[in-house]
Amino acid sequence: MAGLGFHNFFAKDKTFRPKKKFEPGTLRYNLHKHADETLSAGIDIRETVKLPKDEELNDWIAVHVVDFFNRINLLYGVISDYCTDESCPIMSGGPKYEYLWCDNDQYKKPTHLSAPKYIALLMEWIEKQINDETVFPVQVGIAFPKNFQSICKKLLSRLFRVFVHVYIHHFDRISQIGAEAHVNTCYKHFIYFVTEFNLLRKEEIEPLIQMTFRMCPDLIEKLSKKQ
Ligand SMILES: [Zn+2]
Repeated sequence: MAGLGFHNFFAKDKTFRPKKKFEPGTLRYNLHKHADETLSAGIDIRETVKLPKDEELNDWIAVHVVDFFNRINLLYGVISDYCTDESCPIMSGGPKYEYLWCDNDQYKKPTHLSAPKYIALLMEWIEKQINDETVFPVQVGIAFPKNFQSICKKLLSRLFRVFVHVYIHHFDRISQIGAEAHVNTCYKHFIYFVTEFNLLRKEEIEPLIQMTFRMCPDLIEKLSKKQ
């Protein structure tokens, strides 16, 4: 059923789905702007991911998770026309890894899916979490849930799988359109961030570990340690 169902989820009109935004004037909005500006100013990524003085860690994590979701969503949108049930019948990260989808909802057991179906479900699932104000409170003064960081670890580990798929299966397309540097910057930002706060298990990084070492040699020591 090429071209039907989930593949069209990322068709042109849906590629740029509404972005989660923070209310201007709130602390979270200002943090978000800060993260944005320091990056575009070309400051060392390693420094930009560090928690600014006097900021709450959960706020810092929240703005980054939302930001990574938006960026990775756009990034996948760039190659989504090339990621079909035919081109990518399984959600793999190279020959050694296949990700099975499980959401305790429609898919109660780990299920083999094509990459576009898997990624559509993954992005929908993440969007639902970050729009849930009991998990990601929008108003300042409303506390994050106690398990906020463990939820974020799960969100980030799933988002990482989109990088794995794009890098391993669609990087030719990224190069063709000249978006290589942009994708690499986005990846570096992500990996420095999750490493800084121990938000991603080393096993998750495994499919891209050699590339990560080449891009970020200063992380070799940290990522080589047993967790
Ligand atoms: Zn694909």
